[in-house]
Amino acid sequence: MHTVFNIKNLKKDFGANQVLKGINLTVNAGEVISVIGSSGSGKSTFLRCLNLLEKPTDGEIVFGDATQCGDGEVVTNCNVLDPAFDVTKYRSKVGMVFQSFNLFDNMNVLKNCMVGQCKVLGRSKEEAQENAMKYLTLVGMDKYVNARPRHLSGGQKQRVAIARALAMDPQVLLFDEPTSALDPEMVGEVLDVMTTLAKTGRTMIVVTHEMGFARDVSTRVVFMDQGVIAEEGDPKQIFTNPQQERTKQFLSRVL
Ligand code: ADP
Ligand code: MG
Repeated sequence: MHTVFNIKNLKKDFGANQVLKGINLTVNAGEVISVIGSSGSGKSTFLRCLNLLEKPTDGEIVFGDATQCGDGEVVTNCNVLDPAFDVTKYRSKVGMVFQSFNLFDNMNVLKNCMVGQCKVLGRSKEEAQENAMKYLTLVGMDKYVNARPRHLSGGQKQRVAIARALAMDPQVLLFDEPTSALDPEMVGEVLDVMTTLAKTGRTMIVVTHEMGFARDVSTRVVFMDQGVIAEEGDPKQIFTNPQQERTKQFLSRVL
């Protein structure tokens, strides 16, 4: 089993406000981890640290490049806190999908899914287009290649954002409440795509309020409270028999 992330004692302060108080988590290839917890518990900050959108204050994130594992090859672990680290390259391996889509409004759907491949990965236009089409088809958005993001529904935008992240061939996908900005009738189409990805062995870390997804699709649930992982474990166990009082209280509020 390849380790994708080994996160040790991760801390993040904003001034006097310590938002992450020492997160320890190992993420293996193929795991689908749902991160749940109250608003303000540090879930977004945690994901943003993993993608280096925030610079951690302390601790370590070791990223094991799963493509280099196996077959007797040497596993390279990169300490992403090294100042010489290529952050853009790193982010291409650690895909991120945001609540607010963050598509490029001045580009059509196809270009949105090609530009990173050409600029960051140095792929030819032909190669980038082929790969973009593969993932746009997977998310059911291949009919919309010429559309501008502003002409799409929220659910369609989020599916394009997922295809764009996939087109970079990342090792792991991070989702920060990908359905929270959607009208209720569009939540299902995005969750369906995420479920397909989960079932095909994608490594995913998903911050979500969708307790059905957390319970039925994830392989592990992490409950965050006030900047720490208060409890983690098997979804069935967390949902039916939580061990910590604060997990019980949170679940009784949201279920
Ligand atoms: P969650 O995603 O669980 O709702 P966040 O990680 O967004 O929680 O926020 C946790 C805490 O960190 C909040 O108190 C928030 O105000 C604070 N915070 C997040 N980002 C920043 C920032 N860029 N500057 C200052 N404080 C921040
Ligand atoms: Mg958040």
